[in-house]
Amino acid sequence: MKLLILNRLDVVHLLPMEVCLELVAEGLEALGRGEAVNPLRPIMWLPDKRGLLGLMPGYVEGREALGLKVISIFPGNHGTEYDSHQGGVLLFDTEHGCLRALIDAGAVTAIRTAAASGVATRLLAREDAGDLALLGSGVQARTHLEAMRVVREIRRVRVWSRTTAHVQVFAKEESERQGVAIEVVESVQEAVEGADLICTLTASPKPILMGDWISPGAHINAVGASISTTRELDTAAVVGSRLFVDRRESTVNESGDFLIPKKEGAIGEDHIVGEIGEILLEQIGGRTSGEEVTLFKSLGLAVEDVVPAHYLYHRAKEEGVGTWVDFGDDVDEE
Ligand code: NDP
Repeated sequence: MKLLILNRLDVVHLLPMEVCLELVAEGLEALGRGEAVNPLRPIMWLPDKRGLLGLMPGYVEGREALGLKVISIFPGNHGTEYDSHQGGVLLFDTEHGCLRALIDAGAVTAIRTAAASGVATRLLAREDAGDLALLGSGVQARTHLEAMRVVREIRRVRVWSRTTAHVQVFAKEESERQGVAIEVVESVQEAVEGADLICTLTASPKPILMGDWISPGAHINAVGASISTTRELDTAAVVGSRLFVDRRESTVNESGDFLIPKKEGAIGEDHIVGEIGEILLEQIGGRTSGEEVTLFKSLGLAVEDVVPAHYLYHRAKEEGVGTWVDFGDDVDEE
């Protein structure tokens, strides 16, 4: 049997943001219809908390996408030549359970996370939203700029990040690569003043975005905090927003942005208006006025990985991209 290996460049080549947005929407819709399996993810920390391994299995009916993303998160890698998120997506077939592909998980995560924010923004942001604040200047900031430009006409981009040298490199490289002017600002408050699209994309364990600074009508994608003990938004920011999530079960178990205000007694579970998949399926509505603040809390789901992985496998075969190696049972098929 043959196993297909797709590296970072293969993924970037085969998975444009526009395509990934539709794939992620497909995964979230399947989840909403109850046609996907997406258990809560086990996380295994190294004893000294230097890094962790996250295990994300998922299955989407219809497409028959079955896989497991294993991702290491080593935040200390940021600013070095190593990414903070590395690993592989293992794609299996559902006929015999054969391992079919091993795909660069860092690349998939970079694109699909921004695509999920793109889907949410398309559904929830005001039609005329286009004043974008990016908080953070890492991998996710790069792909989020791309995704926001796919779903809205962006007229202004401000970016803030903790480390001046990093944000300056980000602004130079991404303004050249994406052909947009990017303003570097010195504080979060300066970045979000009057912004109608805000993406929080940092590994900060404590709030960086305060409710008082958010303008009426803004849409926020809160992406950076993925565990129950960290958050990027203060309580006022969450209380003052209509909260939409990728998945309720994940949010009430894994999201510090939700659980910390809940523990303080500021919100209950009914603060979650619904899931993005439910909006896609028109089971619930999204924004109800131009004035309200909408908040998408993204935790990241396996369905957002396995649908793109399945697509990548078939696209790669069509285009002759990737590397094949002999692997597994001695069966003569790809
Ligand atoms: P990178 O390692 O590439 O970038 C990390 C970013 O976080 C940098 O902009 C860095 O700022 C900033 N940062 C780190 N520590 C702090 C701090 N204490 N205060 C303020 N800013 C800080 O990571 P990614 O871009 O890949 O990921 C960003 C975040 O998103 C991570 O927390 C990651 O776990 C999360 N994530 C969430 C996903 C989801 O599905 N929701 C999927 C993938 C990632 P600077 O460089 O200026 O110091």
